[in-house]
Parts: sequence; structure tokens; C-alpha cells
Amino acid sequence: MDRDVIGEIKKRLDIVDLIGDYVQLRKVGRNYRALCPFHTEKTPSFYVSPERQTYHCFGCGKGGDAFTFFMEIEGVSFPQALERLAKRAGVTLSKSARPKAEGDLSEVMELALKFYRDALHSPSGEVARSYLKHRELPPEVWETFELGWAPPSWDYLWQSLQRHGVTFELAERCGLVLMGSRSPYDRFRGRVMFPVRDVSGKLVAFGGRLVVGEGAKYINSPESELFQKRNCLYLLERAKKSIRQRGRSILVEGYTDAIRLHLSGYPEAVASLGTSLTEDQAKLLQRFAGRCCICYDADTSGQEASLRGMYILQREGLQVSVVILPRDVDPDQLLLQENGDKVFGEALDHAVPLPLYHLEIRRSQLEDPGSRHKAILELLEGLAELSPFDVAPYISNLSIALGVLPGELNEQIAEIRSRKRAAKEDKSARSSVYINGIGKKSVGKTIDPIEAAVAHVLWNDARRRVEAPPEVVLPLINDERVKSIVAALLYGESPEELEGRWLSVGDRFPMSLIAMGGNFCDQFGDIEVAWKELLRLLERRRRSERYRKLLSAMAKGEASAEEMEELRQLASDIKGGG
Ligand SMILES: [Zn+2]
Repeated sequence: MDRDVIGEIKKRLDIVDLIGDYVQLRKVGRNYRALCPFHTEKTPSFYVSPERQTYHCFGCGKGGDAFTFFMEIEGVSFPQALERLAKRAGVTLSKSARPKAEGDLSEVMELALKFYRDALHSPSGEVARSYLKHRELPPEVWETFELGWAPPSWDYLWQSLQRHGVTFELAERCGLVLMGSRSPYDRFRGRVMFPVRDVSGKLVAFGGRLVVGEGAKYINSPESELFQKRNCLYLLERAKKSIRQRGRSILVEGYTDAIRLHLSGYPEAVASLGTSLTEDQAKLLQRFAGRCCICYDADTSGQEASLRGMYILQREGLQVSVVILPRDVDPDQLLLQENGDKVFGEALDHAVPLPLYHLEIRRSQLEDPGSRHKAILELLEGLAELSPFDVAPYISNLSIALGVLPGELNEQIAEIRSRKRAAKEDKSARSSVYINGIGKKSVGKTIDPIEAAVAHVLWNDARRRVEAPPEVVLPLINDERVKSIVAALLYGESPEELEGRWLSVGDRFPMSLIAMGGNFCDQFGDIEVAWKELLRLLERRRRSERYRKLLSAMAKGEASAEEMEELRQLASDIKGGG
């Protein structure tokens, strides 16, 4: 890659400008400060230095230059970042600096989009224009969402591409034309065209809605070098900023559903290009927000098809809830009805968490003795996909509906979970994260005995579990495994239930952690004294960690005036033994 080009782009781009597109920057001294876009925090520890053209987060440690920031926040590769930032900086990339074949394909796709968009305004586009108006998608919307029209003739696009010197080979690799018995012909004919861009804004595919002629109602571009359906979501490029800001995505099925939501004040909507979801799509969404509201058509086949996808999303760490719409309408239709926006807003506010949704759509089978067993098994299989902490809030509801005791239900789920895990471990030895119920790890030397002692006290003291504020205690715990156990206790899980669950999945870590904490607590004698002392020790540790961070920031010349003041304060606190 051309070093000069990268240098030139960096010189012309202002990193403050670039980052300012994603977070609210506030000037402090010579630097800018913001809430970190890469981790959740309440007080800003994300700094941008205009002098160095760098950024650094003192909370999560992320840092770098304009390129690393752009790649990280947009979730794009280096070549993609190079292309986009070059455009932004007004630097022309030489052909050699660009990924060659991909560049050519992209050009052909953009060319095709231009033809489709022009055709929508041509005489042959009349039928498409009236279709769109009938669907209440007026001309402004065609412009905003780059809608187009593929005329019903056999080779309208192919003729035009040829005039621009595009070879059949390139057009075919883009999925735009096919070879007929005598000559090439267009894949999309008589269809309203929806361009599909990837997360970085590159045009990778089209979706076509049939308006004239015969064929499937919707078709998409075939998979190609440019387009892998499994890692694309319609309108994600447009929605990602809002998804990040609002902390959630709304997932719909169709192109027009997604557009309608954007037009109705839900710019965080994306469409899944079909009901089946993939892990890659889940990861893509997860990158921008941890919550996802699924809003598919209310018909039964839609429900069935989407259940599996929902578990995929949840397994990738997204909190999934389901928006339940009135029967026989899709989001697009609903939002066009009188009071539809109100109905939709309420449905969104009352979105149902995945485990309860699954229970709901299986209710009739559960009541029928003939199908009951199968329905229960399927429900348990689904629940076993989730972490114990994701299922815990719904255990009481589920156990009532299934007519078993909560403990029994937990046992059943844990059993399936460990069976699944065993099967997985057979297949590959790859490790899984603790929270998903693995954790045959023993307590290593790395666990801080003070943190272990906190778990010990909470385990043994019911009153403390109720009275200790989680928002005070949890930020003091560094180790994620300890944190999840402490969180479970603070949020009302009973030690008996937890222990049963850990035993049934063969997880020995939590109990040895608690035992280790007990040893540490012994020195204090009284549990009341121990608790106060533990919090004081953790608070002191937090302060000295902060102190060290600020100290190194100061050494690098990156500390603001406010931070220097904080540093002085911390220094005197620590010296005073507070
Ligand atoms: Zn951060």
C-alpha cells in the first residue's frame, strides 16, 4: 500500500472532525473529551488530541489514529477504510492503491444503479412511479433511498453497460446479467430496485420488487465476490449511527418495512433480507448496540422461521425482544394506517423478551397433550442456548406455564446445556466463555482475594444482598467472572438456586471462589466489619488505578487541566491513606 497516500489522507483529514461525526466532543485544554464509543461509561475518559491526530480511551485502552478509529467504529477492513477516507479527504487513489477487481465491480454496480435510477424517471418508469406512489413512497423517498427501476425489456441494462465498455464477464460477476441461449440478458426486469449497501457504504447488491411481468415477488442479487448475504443488512450503513445512539436496532423483514420505519422516526431500523438470520448478521448488529427488537410479520410461518434466527442473535450476546404486531399487517402497512404510528410505538414499548415470546407462540401446543412433550422439549432446547443469566429473569413465569418448580426447570435446562456443550467439545476443543456456562476453570492466582471476599459476603448474607446497591459494588469489581456472580447475587438470585445450577453444569469456579473469599474474610472476624473494609479496599484500589492512568497520561502530555487537578487530589488521598 502506498505510504504517501496514507500520509496525505491523514494530513488532509482532521481527526477531531472525523471522530466528531460519531461522538460529542468537548474541548478540555488542548484536547477533546467524550464518552467512549467503544465501551459503556458514565464519565468521559475518551480523549482526542488534535496535535497528535490520535485518540485514546483511558477506560478501555483503545487508541490510535484516524484509520484505526474508522475501521473500529465502522467495522470495516483497511482497504475499505482507505477508500472511504480517501474520498472524504478528497485524495484520489491510484488504481494500484485500490483493491483492483473489487474496484471494477463496484464501478459497474454504481453504473447500474445510475441506469436504474434514471430509468425510474423515464417514460418506461411510469408504471413503477405509480406503483411507488400507490405504496405511499413519494419522489423524495426515491432520492433518499436511491430507488430505481429495471424496465421489463430483456437487455436494457446490458445494452447500457456495453455502451460504457463493461464486459459481459464483469457484469455477470456483479450478478446483473445472465447468458441466454443466444445472448446475455438482464437478471432484473420489470422490477422496482432497492440498492443494498454494505456496512461501509459500498454498493454490493440489489433487491427487486416485481411490478410488471412474471416471477417471484422479490428477488435479490446472487451471492458474489461483492455480496455475501450472510453479512449484509439492508440500510445498516444508514442506520448504524442511530443504532449506536439509541442503543438498539429494530430488525424488520422487507425493504419497504425498513424504509417506512426510517420515514416514521425509527432510523435504527434494518432489514434482514429474508427471515433466516446468520451469526455474521448478529455480530454486525452487536457491534453497534446490544439490544435488538425484532419486528417480523405476525403470520405463523414468519414466527416459525424467525425463532431460530432470534436464538442466533441472542447467542451472539444481543438482548432480543419481539415486537408483536396486530395480525395480518406488516410494519409498513401498520405505519400507514390511521393511528398506526401510535399502535406501532406501543408494540415497540411492550416488546416481549425472547424466552417469553417462545412460550407465547407455543401456548396452544403446550395445552394439547398430543403435542405438549415436543413443545416443552423445543422450548428447553432454546433456553439452553442462552446463558443462565439471560434465562434467570423468566424462570418463574416459565415454570408456572410449564407446571414445574423453578428448581426443576433450571435443572432440566442445565442438563440440556451441558449435553450440548459436551457435544460441542467433542466436535472441537475450542473454549467458550464462562457466562455461557462453561467454566470448569479453577480459581487461578489472578483472582483478587478482595473480590472473592465480596462474593463470599454476599453469598452468606441475605440482608446485604438486598441492601448493597449494585451500581456502587459492581464497578469496583474488575474480574468479569467474579462480576457476573456478584451481579447474580445482587439481582436477587438465591444461593441455593445458583449452586444447583453450577453443580449441574459442572462449574466449580464459583464455589471455590466463594471459599477463597471466606479465607480472606476470616481476618476481619465480623461480617459487618468485613464488608465495610472490603469496599474501602476496593475503592482505594480503584483510586490508585485511576491515579496510575492519569500519571501515564500526564507523562505523555495528554492530561488536561482538569485531570491534573484530579491527579493532585488523588495523590493526596492516597498518601492520606483514604
Ligand atoms: Zn473506552
